[in-house]
Amino acid sequence: MSFRLFDAPLREPSQFVGFAGNRIDRQSENRADDVVEKALADPKARLMLMHGGRLYLKLADGGFDPWFKAAESSAFEAPLDRGVLLGFSNSGPVLAVPAGVEPEKLPETVKAIDYRSVYMQGLIDEEAAGAMAQGAALLAWHASHAFCSKCGNPSEMRAGGYRRHCPACGTDHFPRTDPVAIMLTVTRDKCLLGRGRHFAPGMYSALAGFIEPGETIEAAVRRETLEEAGIRLGRVVYHASQPWPFPYSLMIGCFGEPLNEDIQADLNELEDCRWFERDEVRSMLDRQHAGGLITPPRGAIAHHLIRAWVDSEQEQGADR
Ligand SMILES: [Zn+2]
Repeated sequence: MSFRLFDAPLREPSQFVGFAGNRIDRQSENRADDVVEKALADPKARLMLMHGGRLYLKLADGGFDPWFKAAESSAFEAPLDRGVLLGFSNSGPVLAVPAGVEPEKLPETVKAIDYRSVYMQGLIDEEAAGAMAQGAALLAWHASHAFCSKCGNPSEMRAGGYRRHCPACGTDHFPRTDPVAIMLTVTRDKCLLGRGRHFAPGMYSALAGFIEPGETIEAAVRRETLEEAGIRLGRVVYHASQPWPFPYSLMIGCFGEPLNEDIQADLNELEDCRWFERDEVRSMLDRQHAGGLITPPRGAIAHHLIRAWVDSEQEQGADR
């Protein structure tokens, strides 16, 4: 008897979120301590230069080019020995290097643009955006973990940037990825959206919160929804995930089924939280809402959770 994981055709929702286009072969089993050096010796090596949450972009043919050659790095005060090897693309090694030149001192032909704008405005292709997410998360981790958390002495980059080693006490430290649960509470007819205090005007989104130590994804989804909205959840289902380099999170998107409907919003966290009918949400997705309300942009996993629920109407109807 053959084993089939699913009967449905394979259509992985995570492949449609922002930053999911990373095609780099990480070759994680081959990370000797000299991999950065060897990669830089390859004339085909391509570098992303980053500084304070911004990506340097060359103005090129009316668009933006995020790639630099190793020989160009010194002009941007980018020390190659602090570079990390992201892996290998079809056109050679790919690295990310912290650069030192302040944005206002860059030449006219190079701009420093914050990661969020780079991806929200689609300034680079999806493959490069995926590489940016990988490099941004790694460089942010190195920048904030220069010292050993066990003994306090300076630690050193190893394994192409995928490890830091403390020569004083021998401890190895590994890059962090912080899991965040993001969840859309749904019934057949309506879903629960909230408005954070820092959101863009008119925007409502799925609720979200960090997963805590000792918690399952499902438990975190239930806890956050209860804390933020006073809604108890029954069934929780995983939908998709998204690398989120602010600074090094993984967004884990789920749907939840409510057991009660009376909202008690935590107004310390949220400015507003309420139920939205399907047609209203569709108008928000399509930027046609009469009151100007909107959902997050296409690159965000919240958009995909909301879109998947809105589009599920036909399938739900067919079930009945
Ligand atoms: Zn140490």
